[in-house]
Amino acid sequence: MSRSHDLFIAAQKHIPGGVNSPVRAFKSVGGDPVFFKAAKGAYLTDEDNKQYIDYVGSWGPAILGHAHPDVIAAVQRQAEFGLTFGAPTVMETTMADLVCELVPSIEMVRMVSSGTEATMTAIRLARGYTGRDKIVKFEGCYHGHSDSLLVKAGSGALTLGVPSSPGVPDSLANHTITLTHNDADEVRKVFSEIGDQVACIIVEPVAGNMNCILPEPGFLETLREVCDEHGSVLIFDEVMCGFRVGLQGAQGRYGVQADLTTYGKVIGGGMPVGAFGGKKAIMSHIAPLGPVYQAGTLSGNPIAMAAGLTTLHMLKEADFYDRLEAKTLQLVQGLQQVADKHQIPFTTNHAGGMFGFFFSEEKSISRFAQVTQGHMERFKRFYHGMLQEGVYLAPSAYEAGFISIMHTEEDIAKTIAAADKVMATLV
Ligand code: PMP
Repeated sequence: MSRSHDLFIAAQKHIPGGVNSPVRAFKSVGGDPVFFKAAKGAYLTDEDNKQYIDYVGSWGPAILGHAHPDVIAAVQRQAEFGLTFGAPTVMETTMADLVCELVPSIEMVRMVSSGTEATMTAIRLARGYTGRDKIVKFEGCYHGHSDSLLVKAGSGALTLGVPSSPGVPDSLANHTITLTHNDADEVRKVFSEIGDQVACIIVEPVAGNMNCILPEPGFLETLREVCDEHGSVLIFDEVMCGFRVGLQGAQGRYGVQADLTTYGKVIGGGMPVGAFGGKKAIMSHIAPLGPVYQAGTLSGNPIAMAAGLTTLHMLKEADFYDRLEAKTLQLVQGLQQVADKHQIPFTTNHAGGMFGFFFSEEKSISRFAQVTQGHMERFKRFYHGMLQEGVYLAPSAYEAGFISIMHTEEDIAKTIAAADKVMATLV
């Protein structure tokens, strides 16, 4: 038995389910979660000293690879000066200036400590700004675990089969309208009926919590249009795709601007960070400028700012995203080739350093409903085969994969060779 097995049993004594975040428990793929003790570049090392090529990247932040020397140096330097002040620092201004410089739709930004806080506050701000209660979201998108957003949610909520969580009062859930992702006609219809009651639309412009689903042409544009027509706030939840699918995230890639944008993951360079920002006219409603309340003891934490700023500066290198996307392409094309070779129905999606694959007969997947049971079953076997071969994928068929700038051609070739071996067993 592996050391991870013993550690998982020990963990379950005092941690619910042995984990501090549900998908880590391997419920959907079965077996014991792997306990890691170190990570460097594209590689993870587990408690048995086995190495894995990592395509999770801590669920997205590790875009520079794990423990990038410049990020570690920045964190160490800052640690010497103190871990937290709970008072303003220069780095917070530098961070805000940088985000506003990089993303044209953002005029003001507030740092928080997680993606959940960012989306929860963006919703509150949209409600406070418009004086309306209803929010529109899409089935299969995940926006963190605040009450209003845990209705037909994606990610772990989907994986564990509780997309609408107990504990969320009906009186609150009733204000959340969940529509079919990528269905522009449905959005138009709903807005023609009740658009004037809708505070905001929140969407993952590149969805990464129902596997990886790209926006159909015209979908994001329709969201922009109906929000403009009805005075609703358009929130792009770029916690996952921000600084991941391009320097300006999904809004740069698809040319549609949000009113408010939420960030997490990459922006913290591996430290617990989230952010929300957008138009000054809306952001001015947040405390202390305005009446909508939001606060955080560790918000804008200096260590987190040091890691995030160092990371963002490196992403500004002229060809960073071209190099990153070339790696993603090498991976998804290689996987497609071996699947074709073994005549396994298979298709992939990708954007920048984010990808998804589906065991499916359908050649193009853009709807949540297309992520089928057949995919789940093959995925589980593929997952464990790859783990055995030393490739660490997200332990759920509903999650996107992530690549880092440190994944070499050789790492990717090794991954494809492993997939070749594993797919031979799936036929
Ligand atoms: N929004 C999106 C799009 C996410 O992917 C996530 C987390 N995976 C969140 C919000 C919540 O972020 P956190 O887990 O940092 O609270």
